[in-house]
Amino acid sequence: MNIQSILRSALVLVQLNFLSVRADAELPTAAPGTAARAYLEVPDTGDGMTRIPVSVFRGDKDGPTLALIAGTHGYEYAPMVALQHVGRRINPKDLSGTLIMVHVANMPSFHQRTIYYGPVDGKNLNRAYPGKPDGTLSERIAHIITTQVIEKADYVIDMHSGDGNEALRPYIYMPRTGDLQLDAKIKSMALAFGIDHIVIDERPVSAPDATVFTDMTALSRGIPSMTTEAGQLGSTDPHWVDINVMGAMNVMRHLGMLPGEVIPPKPTVWLKGYQVVTSPENGFFRPAVKDGYAIAEGGILGELVDHFGTHIATIHAPFAGVVNYVVATPPVRFGEPLAMVSKLAEEEN
Ligand SMILES: [Zn+2]
Repeated sequence: MNIQSILRSALVLVQLNFLSVRADAELPTAAPGTAARAYLEVPDTGDGMTRIPVSVFRGDKDGPTLALIAGTHGYEYAPMVALQHVGRRINPKDLSGTLIMVHVANMPSFHQRTIYYGPVDGKNLNRAYPGKPDGTLSERIAHIITTQVIEKADYVIDMHSGDGNEALRPYIYMPRTGDLQLDAKIKSMALAFGIDHIVIDERPVSAPDATVFTDMTALSRGIPSMTTEAGQLGSTDPHWVDINVMGAMNVMRHLGMLPGEVIPPKPTVWLKGYQVVTSPENGFFRPAVKDGYAIAEGGILGELVDHFGTHIATIHAPFAGVVNYVVATPPVRFGEPLAMVSKLAEEEN
């Protein structure tokens, strides 16, 4: 058996567990005041199939549709656990509008415990948008989420954490598109989520058919969106889960979907101009900093050594700022992230 057929067999075994909840090609509908759950089918076009677990909570009263997407990267567990908690806390009778939750966007990555890349096609789901109906498995997942979730939502949050190898200080990527109305909605949503490090993310809005990222797929369709990062290193510790639960509940209060006040955000540390520092070689990384550290321009982020411990390179910060995340387990490959650093910015809450 080659590796692809082994992986495919593993996916088939995993799929046996899916059968208690119905599978569907389309997002399930729910009557007012009720909830529905299903597995969205991603059909096999040559490299296997998968299914995406989704919930739809439809409120008794009208209101916006919010989509929360967890598990774009399958080793980022805190947001997935958080959505299970959110599902238990929401009574559709108390809800205004509709909450769509994607519990695990990237099931192949989840079940094979891969970081960054899907195990079947080696693609990063958060670089595969808006996807293709006849593409590889990651591209087909992206296509289903684009058409069945993102395009049905008024607001979209792609909920990440540090991946299985990343120690990460919680932060939000807050897109700044230049569209003042859209940007105001995004900013108020980011502040409501309540994570006190916000990275202003100035990327031009792509064409709708060339969006690459989950959040950009929403933005290019005029839908306010952001990416949250809370959790790290495969942990399901309640400390990380609760940040995600609080954020989701706060945003629903902010949008008028749930009664109650938004718990006011702490003073925010604004950041911009982020840079991901990548590895110059394959090797063994020894971080010299922790997530959230302040660092000077040229400050040492870590040392790259070979497998015998011999020095290869010292890794420096490109500018003074905050370490948003740092790779905290040894294996690194050429061109992959070692750390992300952002500059302090001035911005009003
Ligand atoms: Zn991620």
